[in-house]
Amino acid sequence: MKSDIKLITDEGKRLDGRGPHDLRKIKIEAGVLHRADGSCYLEWGGNKVLAAVYGPREAVPRHTQNPLKAIVQARYNMAAFSVEDRKRPGPDRRSVEISKVISEALEKVILTEYFPRASIDVNIEVLDAEAGTRCAGLSAAAVALVDAGIPMRDIPVACAAGKIEGQVVLDLGKEEDNFGDADLPIAISPRTDEVLLLQMDGHFTVNEFNQAFDLALKGCHTVSEIQKKAILEKYQSVVAEVQE
Ligand code: ADP
Repeated sequence: MKSDIKLITDEGKRLDGRGPHDLRKIKIEAGVLHRADGSCYLEWGGNKVLAAVYGPREAVPRHTQNPLKAIVQARYNMAAFSVEDRKRPGPDRRSVEISKVISEALEKVILTEYFPRASIDVNIEVLDAEAGTRCAGLSAAAVALVDAGIPMRDIPVACAAGKIEGQVVLDLGKEEDNFGDADLPIAISPRTDEVLLLQMDGHFTVNEFNQAFDLALKGCHTVSEIQKKAILEKYQSVVAEVQE
């Protein structure tokens, strides 16, 4: 969608004052819910996301079981109050799509073969949405999986880059997403840089696509460090408590 809004000032700053390669502010806390096996609360700019993990537990109904490995079921949900105009509660095409791509991304790093016939359930609740919720949700889910003690090859992480006013920038905000030219969310395994998710909205030239991909990849590595810090923070305090 085009608009009269100027997304980049003459000084090269974006609407929220960021430069083209800056991420929004990110805050992550691991282990915030008592009843879930693992959980995480994440703020990413104006996004607020809770992730809760249950399992591995017996998959029901039984016909969903895989005798060779666990199934990974992520359920992404945007709260009715998370957007400006109240959103109709319950699943819609968009949330079904996001749940599917996040499930498939997480499944690639979880050691599902350790838990035949089991289900690993990941609930992602978006409390406040301001663009980039699939990346925020996946990154929160990854920390919740670690908190639940689910064995994984790596801690997956997601970040997007996009194009506004013909310029490739990192991590689109709300107006940039609405009125920009393109958005490229990716998720990776940061240890190997294997791509776990890649979606694209809008149009890039090959050169712009490569620039956006490299930028999103760097963004993923920055978010990955914040994820690791959040996990260490929780478990260092747990270890200190046990030692006391
Ligand atoms: P993502 O949140 O991963 O960027 P989209 O590109 O589909 O996914 O959505 C961009 C943003 O548009 C969301 O983060 C949210 O702020 C807004 N949005 C999505 N769905 C709705 C809706 N039903 N009503 C109002 N705003 C919405």
